[in-house]
Amino acid sequence: MSGPRPLPREEALLLGPPQWRHACHALLYAPCPHRLFGKIPLRFAVLMQMRFDGRLGFPGGFVDPQDASLEAGLNRELREELGPGVAFLHVDEGDHVSSHASEKPQRVVAHFYAKRLSLEQLRTIEDHATHAKDHGLEAMGLVRVPLYTLRDGVGGLPAFLNNNFVSIARDQLVHALETLELVPREHLQKAVVAAQKCLCVPSAGTSSSRVL
Ligand code: AMP
Ligand code: MN
Repeated sequence: MSGPRPLPREEALLLGPPQWRHACHALLYAPCPHRLFGKIPLRFAVLMQMRFDGRLGFPGGFVDPQDASLEAGLNRELREELGPGVAFLHVDEGDHVSSHASEKPQRVVAHFYAKRLSLEQLRTIEDHATHAKDHGLEAMGLVRVPLYTLRDGVGGLPAFLNNNFVSIARDQLVHALETLELVPREHLQKAVVAAQKCLCVPSAGTSSSRVL
């Protein structure tokens, strides 16, 4: 097998231990009416987190044999990584988006979920996240994904997409932004192309290189 292989949830569940481990991660998002600098619409607040390994990913983790279901494992992981602010939150089977099986570096089935919240609920999670059991350990802090592109054509979503992402988290993000209609399709496609281009361009014009 070359890369991660998409498969239906039911088929993924047939891949059992000890050969396969299952991991579940969730994208939490909320409509956001605010404008950056009073001008640029933010559209939605979408949460990702900085991980212990320096990469960006979604909250979640490995499902344990003691977990009653994939979703029970996911909700436990969310409580560990996001803390008391998720007491109200219950991600269930209906929130499932995709499953992918990878053989390397280890056999893992990655299940991905998305849950729409109110902005107030999302802010509650952000406010409590530093009190999570795993805060400062596996989870280094929540970030919101910028969904806009600034006038320079790079700042915002294109620059964000050039971060280092764990496993297939970047693809999960881009796919979710499209299918959940969090970013207009044309805008998203342009941002993905701009992200590829700005990787190849020398950083001569960036503010950090100007000060050096
Ligand atoms: P974690 O405990 O969050 O590190 O996740 C357990 C496993 O899932 C690790 O093997 C990670 O490489 C993988 N993983 C982490 N985040 C994601 C993600 N968003 N999508 C797919 N796999 C992931
Ligand atoms: Mn995790």
